[in-house]
Amino acid sequence: MFKRILIASRGEIAMRIIRCCREMGIETVLAVSEEDKSSMPANFATRSVCIGPAEASKSYLNKQAILDAAKAYKCDAVHPGYGFLSENADFAGMCEEDGVIFIGPSSDIIRKMGDKQSARELMKKKRVPTVPGSDGELSSPEEAEKIAEKVGYPVLLKASAGGGGRGMRIVTEKSEMKRAFDEAYAEAQAAFGNGALYLEKLIINPRHIEVQIMGDSHGNIVHLGERDCSMQRRNQKLIEETPARSLTPSQRKAIHEAALKAAKAVGYYSAGTVEFVVDQKGNFYFIEMNTRIQVEHCITEMVTGIDLMREQIRIAAGKELSFKQSEIRIRGHAIECRINAEDPEAGFTPSPGDISFLHLPGGFGVRCENALHTGGRVSPYYDSMIAKVIVHAPGRMKAIKKMRAALEEMTVEGIKTNLNFLYLIMFSPGFITGSYNTSFLKKHGDLILKWDKESRRKIKKDEE
Ligand code: ADP
Ligand code: ADP
Ligand code: MG
Repeated sequence: MFKRILIASRGEIAMRIIRCCREMGIETVLAVSEEDKSSMPANFATRSVCIGPAEASKSYLNKQAILDAAKAYKCDAVHPGYGFLSENADFAGMCEEDGVIFIGPSSDIIRKMGDKQSARELMKKKRVPTVPGSDGELSSPEEAEKIAEKVGYPVLLKASAGGGGRGMRIVTEKSEMKRAFDEAYAEAQAAFGNGALYLEKLIINPRHIEVQIMGDSHGNIVHLGERDCSMQRRNQKLIEETPARSLTPSQRKAIHEAALKAAKAVGYYSAGTVEFVVDQKGNFYFIEMNTRIQVEHCITEMVTGIDLMREQIRIAAGKELSFKQSEIRIRGHAIECRINAEDPEAGFTPSPGDISFLHLPGGFGVRCENALHTGGRVSPYYDSMIAKVIVHAPGRMKAIKKMRAALEEMTVEGIKTNLNFLYLIMFSPGFITGSYNTSFLKKHGDLILKWDKESRRKIKKDEE
């Protein structure tokens, strides 16, 4: 097993990695920016090393500085968490060349799956269903118009290098194409350093269903069930749950099998997720594979009882998967809420600042993943997701009630958060019945924000 791991990430996922390594008897070296020198993970890692200034491009995305730190501190491996360099094939390749193990799949696998448009082409070849759209990269708005004409409007322009819900544009008719194309291209170029676009038919009111995959370097590969991540705001996940209530047993089986087929197509190993959109008739289509540990991996851990982080580290060290497909059992229901430092009353603008008071919820079946404490600081330089509240209960309604209680208990002072918004969603009929899709918050978000105690009390009463 590894003796020492360099962590090339920050925030709650850095804490998750540190805790896991402590359990496994592995030392941790946390690469931090100047901004994060006194963060909670910097205090809990065995040691930390500054790799550059606050701007991510000069620190958390500085491949050479991170690799140099890993070598200088004699780390056997690098854990990239999620975001930043976690899906960067060049960085994984640099690690391979320098004999530092990248905790994830090989650079070759990341290259095949990381570019969304080429992954899509590969899936078509392997007969995994994809959304109708372009074959490969779009060369011009005119080409996009031709394809859109064929598959039918509305369509979605998507960035090949996209992530985190960015670099996407809906186009409802031909006259909008040129402008949307130029905007999406510029946005992708600025955000990902790569403006390449492709096009998919816009699936109306779909669900986002994804399948957790885990494979080892000995050819074993399994799935750990699915997650429903349809509660989104601007194509960014906000609440996730497992199992997905909307799937029939045969749909569930089919989507698990498609995900395994997708992963096997590239000889996948490590933790990974195959993402699908499911239309209102129940047809599912591959959208992308995330070749890393995901934000919402914890809900799968709760229902399977398997520590995915530990497994991911073991696999990187060359060990075999510690369980077989037949040994995986899904027990009960789990829900995750992403707590963001943002102001719902001001259009969800980021709300960084000092935390004057923080209280995290606890109790049976309640789990918090977080990297903050009273007196800590939410930096304006990075993602606004600051914590996750995860609950696990024997059934879905019990899990919803547990989540309400947990969110009620949680207190964050000094900055604005979406806590109350999440709490209100836990009372919305669309969430309670499980009938929501990815358009839910666009349609009902504003109304939910305006809810008062009276309407909540009424729903609570109806449930009794
Ligand atoms: P998940 O698929 O794990 O739910 P998200 O899409 O919510 O992940 O992204 C997790 C984090 O990684 C967010 O902070 C997001 O901004 C960031 N992220 C995801 N993909 C990319 C990317 N390609 N480039 C930069 N940041 C990304
Ligand atoms: P990212 O890399 O940003 O995670 P994805 O391709 O996974 O991008 O898409 C993010 C979200 O956008 C999906 O979860 C879904 O809600 C929406 N989306 C993506 N493709 C389509 C599509 N063809 N039709 C409808 N919605 C889509
Ligand atoms: Mg995605």
